[in-house]
Amino acid sequence: MPIGAELIALDRVSFSYPSADGTVSVLNNINLTIRRGEWVAVAGTNGSGKSTLAKLMAGLIPAASGEISFAIREQPPVQLVFQNPGTQIIGETVFEDVCFGMENYGIPDSEMARRAMDALEQTGLSSMADMPVARLSGGQKQLLAVASCISVNPAVLIFDEATSMLDPLARQHVAQAAKRLHHLGATVVWITQWLDELSLADRVIAMDQGSIIFDGSPPDFFYKRNDQCQTGCDRLQFAPPYTVQVVLSLLDQGCKLREPLPI
Ligand code: ADP
Repeated sequence: MPIGAELIALDRVSFSYPSADGTVSVLNNINLTIRRGEWVAVAGTNGSGKSTLAKLMAGLIPAASGEISFAIREQPPVQLVFQNPGTQIIGETVFEDVCFGMENYGIPDSEMARRAMDALEQTGLSSMADMPVARLSGGQKQLLAVASCISVNPAVLIFDEATSMLDPLARQHVAQAAKRLHHLGATVVWITQWLDELSLADRVIAMDQGSIIFDGSPPDFFYKRNDQCQTGCDRLQFAPPYTVQVVLSLLDQGCKLREPLPI
């Protein structure tokens, strides 16, 4: 997918949540552009600000300072698959739930059923179309949230740790569905803590304590952060997947990877 024009631009964006004794700063001075056709992975430890960044990029919360601009004409511009799927599910049955999102975007009835079944097929849920949503497992609900988001064919699709509750097969379904949309022109932002998922990306953004600490290609993320190999490197050679947290902390301790990681 060729990389095109800027779709989302964050210019010196900061964000704070209210707290008992004032506010707590969560994002500091973020400069970031997302371009059409990119697959951007956002990596970072718990609490580093990834979900807050996702909500800003989806237009769900405003910046406290700085500016966010969107240059997207398509409808819907951005869809966000949340980490907790419960917040996104509205319909009574699986099929109804996927249709619900499409109704909001005025997708004609004649197309709705076809698109719903296609999205359910891609996420491995087609045999459950008539099942009440209440009977789904956590992982199945997460797949359903993904199905609803992909059915409306957004310009930008943000997955916020959308595979966190899934078994390996279901993770593959989600990744395949995202890849298919990406081939068809969607821009993908893939938030994850899992190292193996960075291999899908053509750009990695790493976050730490509300700041972007790295923005570049996946190989550079692993191999150019540190030049000096000290200890602990051998542990990284085998037995993936590692969490990004483990890799970042080992890199921070001065490790360089001796062998290519399976990315
Ligand atoms: P991540 O997705 O990387 O785990 P988040 O963006 O969810 O990070 O959270 C960043 C920080 O903001 C954390 O310290 C978290 O506790 C805090 N936070 C997140 N949501 C809220 C909220 N609604 N109110 C107050 N603090 C929040």
